[in-house]
Amino acid sequence: MNKKAVALFSGGLDSMLAIKLMLEQGVEVHALNFLTIFCTCTSKGCMHQATKAAKELGVPLKVMNITKEYMEVVKNPKYGHGRGMNPCIDCRIFTFKKAKEFMKEMGASFVITGEVLGQRPMSQRKNAIEIIEKESGLKGLIVRPLSAKFFEPSLPEKAGIVDRDRLLDIQGRQRIRQIALAEELGVNDYPCPAGGCLLTDKGFSNRLKDLLEHKPEYELSDLHILKTARQFRINKKAKLFIGRNERENEQLLSFSQPGDYIFDVVDIPSPIGLVRGEVTEKDISLSSSIMVRYSDAKSQSAKVSYKILPSEELRFMQSSPALESIIASFRL
Ligand code: SF4
Repeated sequence: MNKKAVALFSGGLDSMLAIKLMLEQGVEVHALNFLTIFCTCTSKGCMHQATKAAKELGVPLKVMNITKEYMEVVKNPKYGHGRGMNPCIDCRIFTFKKAKEFMKEMGASFVITGEVLGQRPMSQRKNAIEIIEKESGLKGLIVRPLSAKFFEPSLPEKAGIVDRDRLLDIQGRQRIRQIALAEELGVNDYPCPAGGCLLTDKGFSNRLKDLLEHKPEYELSDLHILKTARQFRINKKAKLFIGRNERENEQLLSFSQPGDYIFDVVDIPSPIGLVRGEVTEKDISLSSSIMVRYSDAKSQSAKVSYKILPSEELRFMQSSPALESIIASFRL
């Protein structure tokens, strides 16, 4: 067993502190960050935050993009979902298994995490932490510098590679001790103290469930587009997206692909509409009427244009605004 470890690293405060405590004990740390489309740490993304934080700590960083593989975990988690589509226990098992592989690749001997007992309701309860450790095949090989005192000594602690007396006993959701510790250790600039995950969001989870139910053979772009705009399930095989602002209109256009329908209201300010999937004339007419409702035409009828990508040929139809009750019945 050597003094080299892999750290699960979100770039948030807890994982930064865990690394810092290990560096102070002379451990060589290699940070490992996982990237999925569900991470919402900063507007620039988690990878940006992790890169910045690793630089501040002076440790090398490996970023793994795991969205595709991770979706299998999201769909069928052995330990179930939380309040949303978040499969926290299975998610942790999955990332710990990846960390184990990386640990072997790097010739490291153990894994460090910023886990704090009791901080997260699903994955940081004591029995959940123990299940995760066992199922990931890392039994005895995980050092949790912030909460170590609540657990049996790990193998590196028993071997004297890590000094248990210098590990901590932080627990619970309050972050007062971590913030004080950050000051003491000179850890600055941690804009993502708790991390963020879209899978815990009810609205996003409903849209994800809807996608998995109606389009099990989804593509990555179907996941990306779930994050933006108002969304309507207009039939079993098609959805309408309508931007809520300029940024979302641009996002819809950037996510568009051949076969998508792009809607606009002629000569009246309106958001962009995008329909993806198989539609009938009736669905096109429904989409047009929803478009009019969200345009400045409000209660008047208006002329709506649409094109089927990649064609630029515009087609037109006159539509009245959809009733609120109709809109509510299709909205996701
Ligand atoms: S909140 Fe999201 S990222 Fe965090 S453990 Fe749960 S599913 Fe995984």
